[in-house]
Amino acid sequence: MNYVIALGSNLGDRVGYLKLACQELEALAAISSIYETLPVGGPEGQGPYLNMVVIYESDRSPRKVLEECQRIEGVARRCRNEYHGPRTLDLDIVAVDTLVVEEPDLVIPHPRAKDRGFVMAPIYEVDPALAWRLSPEIAALLEHQLWQEGREIITGVWLKGQLDL
Ligand code: ADP
Ligand code: MG
Repeated sequence: MNYVIALGSNLGDRVGYLKLACQELEALAAISSIYETLPVGGPEGQGPYLNMVVIYESDRSPRKVLEECQRIEGVARRCRNEYHGPRTLDLDIVAVDTLVVEEPDLVIPHPRAKDRGFVMAPIYEVDPALAWRLSPEIAALLEHQLWQEGREIITGVWLKGQLDL
């Protein structure tokens, strides 16, 4: 199965945490560019996020992959001072092929992904068909975009560059 996983970090060595996540997740079939994003909601004074999306191939169940994502978040948390609020690393399962999961603590496709430009832009890069399926409105905006480093691809989301693995 192809797991589309969204990564985000807005604290500490953000690029380092994204890199850590990519290294911990083995068998990545695709890696998007990195995007820099103004924080949406959350506490005041939060720094900008770095976001990206990867495609992770695995035969494991969604529940097992969620546990794996939480394990990796835990590895990142051990690298920093526990008193800071914002996240060093957040991993969300956006979609798994055409699977639908609706459990109290696991919803796939991720219900908020389609409203978030910082998830939709990197998805469009690695899996345009999924972007169209999740949000035709945002996919239509992304379709005519110039995918140039430094550009604001969608409101509040800048294309920053590649992760140097
Ligand atoms: P955010 O919604 O901002 O990512 P958190 O990472 O703190 O917030 O939320 C984590 C919780 O979301 C987890 O306890 C997990 O059980 C739940 N969850 C539900 N669906 C998903 C999903 N598709 N991917 C990741 N976590 C999910
Ligand atoms: Mg999360």
